[in-house]
Amino acid sequence: MGQQLAVLAGVVGGVWALLLWLSIVVWVYRDIRDRTRDSSLQVLSVFVVLMFFPGFNVPGLALYLMLRPRDTLEEAYARSLEEEALLRELGDEGSCPSCRRLTDKDFHYCPSCQTQLKDACAKCKHLLSFSWVACPYCGTTRPGAARAPQPGAAQPAGGQPAYRDEGPLQASPATQEAEPVRYQH
Ligand SMILES: [Zn+2]
Ligand SMILES: [Zn+2]
Repeated sequence: MGQQLAVLAGVVGGVWALLLWLSIVVWVYRDIRDRTRDSSLQVLSVFVVLMFFPGFNVPGLALYLMLRPRDTLEEAYARSLEEEALLRELGDEGSCPSCRRLTDKDFHYCPSCQTQLKDACAKCKHLLSFSWVACPYCGTTRPGAARAPQPGAAQPAGGQPAYRDEGPLQASPATQEAEPVRYQH
């Protein structure tokens, strides 16, 4: 009777160990598939947990957990998108501030939503960022650095002096900074 119980316990234990071994192998196979497309790495990972004796492949599992790629493919993709967006913001240009689509630094308007991206220099017609106070090519101060003026469009003969007076007042600290640049000319 006691002997039979021992055999039964042994069989149950053996089956349990076998199931554990199998599920660990399956789990590792699924997990590594999410983390790499490199098939040799997939085979190696499964082999690491396979080669230990059934039921005792927990060390193999621990080894795998320590050495597996940190990010799943999905996480790595999300991270690369995040970094790309950050780089674009740092570079000031590269994406439309309104619709976030990619733009070229030569673009005057966004091709997707028609947002004005750049301002043309009143003198030399180079494209200027809205954050710039003066034209880097000819030194001309940008009139009304804070707004988005339409060069040539909104300049009736009567309204011009009032507009010109307002411009330097609004951007006075910035204009002072731009002054030495103009003297160098
Ligand atoms: Zn846009
Ligand atoms: Zn200019």
